[in-house]
Amino acid sequence: MPWSVGDTAALRQSVIRRVRYALNTHALLDDRVPPEGAYDSAITNALVQIVAAEWPGAERDPAGRLKSAAKLLDFIVTSVDEHFVPSSQLREGIELSQEARHGRSDDEWQILNESHIDALAELDGHESLGVLERLRGRTYNDSLVLLFEEEVGVHLPSRPKDRLDFPDPDECDECYRPTFVVTAWDDFGGNVGPGFCIACGHTRSNEDASDLAVGEAMRRAMDRPD
Ligand SMILES: [Zn+2]
Repeated sequence: MPWSVGDTAALRQSVIRRVRYALNTHALLDDRVPPEGAYDSAITNALVQIVAAEWPGAERDPAGRLKSAAKLLDFIVTSVDEHFVPSSQLREGIELSQEARHGRSDDEWQILNESHIDALAELDGHESLGVLERLRGRTYNDSLVLLFEEEVGVHLPSRPKDRLDFPDPDECDECYRPTFVVTAWDDFGGNVGPGFCIACGHTRSNEDASDLAVGEAMRRAMDRPD
């Protein structure tokens, strides 16, 4: 069984973080938004994603809250990782976006500039992100669906023979995205088995699945020409 319900929260969070990073960074690169709020959201989501991927659990403080961007950057810099050395412009970018957001900026030249935004875009080179290219020009909803579909592809077996053991993902009853993962065939060999949606978290229990499958089977029987 390639899926467990426990995976869904982590998967959802990972997808949403990557989408927020990519779309905010594109808006900054294209100079389409006032920079401070977008910068803050992009860098926080990127750093949480990187820390959660490299050092699972270290993205939260002892009380379980997500750490701030500045604290995450401190953590990355002090944790030895030769493959990933964040630019010093990131720290300045965090400070500038925070000052402006809290109304403390008193020097109009102390603003986020291209070098801070370029440093943000460079984070995409980390293997836990890698989304800027693919999500360029996409809407928020399109981006979510694309990354969710990729996750479905990654988590289902790739060999056609093994693949037959698992029903195809279906449209979700709640959010209508094609991201409902069916974890078992239903009692009639159909696609109405138990499962869950990796986009919205909606789950279908064994009991609900049985009721739905019976309904589907009856509908098929009644549609049959006699
Ligand atoms: Zn859903």
